[in-house]
Amino acid sequence: MPLPSTFADFTGNQPTVESLRAAIALGRLPHSLILLGPRGAGKYTLSLLLTLALECENQPRETAPDGRDLAAFCGHCRNCTRIAESADLDTKVEEAVASREEMREVDKKETRVLVQTHPDVLIVPPDPPQLLIKLGQIRTLINRSHTLPTESRAKVFVITSAAFMKEAANSLLKVLEEPPPYVHILLLAENLGELLPTIRSRCAVAHLGALPAEEIATLLAARRPELNKTERDLTARLSEGAAGRALSFNLAEYAAARNDALTILHTAEHSGGLQDHSTLFRMTETYRAGAEGQTKTTALLRALSSLLEDILLLQNGAPDRVRNIDKRTDLQRLADTFAFDWIEQAVRAIDAVQSGMRRNLLRSLSLDALAVELEGTRR
Ligand SMILES: [Zn+2]
Repeated sequence: MPLPSTFADFTGNQPTVESLRAAIALGRLPHSLILLGPRGAGKYTLSLLLTLALECENQPRETAPDGRDLAAFCGHCRNCTRIAESADLDTKVEEAVASREEMREVDKKETRVLVQTHPDVLIVPPDPPQLLIKLGQIRTLINRSHTLPTESRAKVFVITSAAFMKEAANSLLKVLEEPPPYVHILLLAENLGELLPTIRSRCAVAHLGALPAEEIATLLAARRPELNKTERDLTARLSEGAAGRALSFNLAEYAAARNDALTILHTAEHSGGLQDHSTLFRMTETYRAGAEGQTKTTALLRALSSLLEDILLLQNGAPDRVRNIDKRTDLQRLADTFAFDWIEQAVRAIDAVQSGMRRNLLRSLSLDALAVELEGTRR
């Protein structure tokens, strides 16, 4: 997705965006800032727009309705154009991973994935295959933070995930404590619970909230004409108020993950014992290897959570909030079958697997444990 060419093209959360722009215009943007919001809310996009506003050679200003000065960016100076090259993060990360693959084994181990398209701006994505922010990455950040910017006014570091390895989080604390005056650290997080309290307490927090489903459906009608109305409505609900997520939502991939998740639920629904595990184990078996398996597992767990939450909504008499609207009949039957306690326990078990995966436990192990848990708690 290309970067919005102005702040006005950034969808949603206008008050938050304006106060951040006003802070930049006054030279008062907090040096350590958490951009907090659901996946797809535009955290990465906004972090780059703020970086552009900090670094643009032309420093244009706009006036807010309330008279405040708002920082903006020109979009065509040498700083703007180079920073904007970081917009397609997935491709940049793939390139960095590919060049690491070509290294000698000994160098490979020491090389962490970083994205840099401007000398004063460093993007720190979760390092594959574990997809955690690692010590080597934070060490690089700290080293770079010691030198003055060379081609712009500030050094900006964007950490795109809050999933840190412990040593990495601890070492980040030092720079958060006393960041040099020219340094800005933007940390993107889906929930504050992922972060050490000591990190949270050293950062300002800007919240990006969810948008109403109708607003997202309207946005989709304009930006994704290939989707029909049913697909737009489903995508709007599944993306849970996150414009960016809706715009890039892959309905086919989600449907595949959800089918597997439904198989798990049906297995649990019908199983009288361990003999019915074979489908489930066959399925998780195909997920085990490599980064693709990790992606599929994450998608499966997300789909499973989303189905279980919908079942809870049905059980609680809130059918209008169900997201998987095309599976309502199926979900209603499951809602009638499963006990509330079972669902609650299953949701907790899935949370545990997800945080286990973030902490880099053996994925297949925790998945199998989840399968057993789902069986065990049914009765
Ligand atoms: Zn510019």
